Amino acid sequence: MYIAAEAAGTFGPVGTAYPVYLGSLITVLLLLERWMPMRPDWGMTRTLFFVRDLPMLVVNGAAMVAATHGITWLVGHRVLCSLGASGLPWPVQALIAAALADLAWYGLHRYCHEGRGRLGRWMWRTHVLHHLPEQVYVFMHAAGHPIQSAYVRIVLLLPAIGLGLTPEAAFAAAVFNGFQGLVSHFNVDIRAGWLNRVFIGTELHRFHHSADPAEARNYAAVFSVWDQLFGSYRLPGVAPAALGVPDRTAYPANTQWLQLLALPLRSASPAQRREP
Ligand SMILES: [Zn+2]
Repeated sequence: MYIAAEAAGTFGPVGTAYPVYLGSLITVLLLLERWMPMRPDWGMTRTLFFVRDLPMLVVNGAAMVAATHGITWLVGHRVLCSLGASGLPWPVQALIAAALADLAWYGLHRYCHEGRGRLGRWMWRTHVLHHLPEQVYVFMHAAGHPIQSAYVRIVLLLPAIGLGLTPEAAFAAAVFNGFQGLVSHFNVDIRAGWLNRVFIGTELHRFHHSADPAEARNYAAVFSVWDQLFGSYRLPGVAPAALGVPDRTAYPANTQWLQLLALPLRSASPAQRREP
């Protein structure tokens, strides 16, 4: 998203059209969620938006900007450099960058859920904020810890930098990733059919948010191919019975922002531990 925002200055009408595209997409998705929610009790409420989603949007937006500036600084000082794939057509570059970033996210995300030992448990505590909501809807996508937002940003940017993408390709990859992120948390009953075998959509990602850890698989964000390849693909055919974590009361409430942000800084209580 930030790349796209930066690119707005470079791409003239196409770049400046991005905020219009994003605003229109979010508006359409929100209207559809109100008109035909899959589960009304999984929908956004005014309280959830103002108490949880909006503050997290602000905090995580700041974390992403900080991570982007950090990486830009490293590139500027030649700590990170490009392998140079700019000779390829830009759609191919965008596809390669999106696939590599999603593979990196798949590995990291799976480690957040299944990693053992001190580091594995700490990674879960940077990620669990995204799993505390007992709903899925478009703006719930913003729920998460700023540490997670920073490493997601790094995972998304490194392939683009490493490959040396042209601005057009980086722009296309950012548009695609942004679309997937919003649509995968959509509270509308969309059946994607065979497309589930290619992309992560609403049906698949909803299971990732199941309160039943056995169902909460589908770790990729964009391409379900990675889940199929590594054995974590789940599409049981009916919606999960409940969303969130097995014991929501073991974690701070939505209004306890400081306690939520402190989760990675404190050791887990017995009820918060994933491991027996
Ligand atoms: Zn997760």
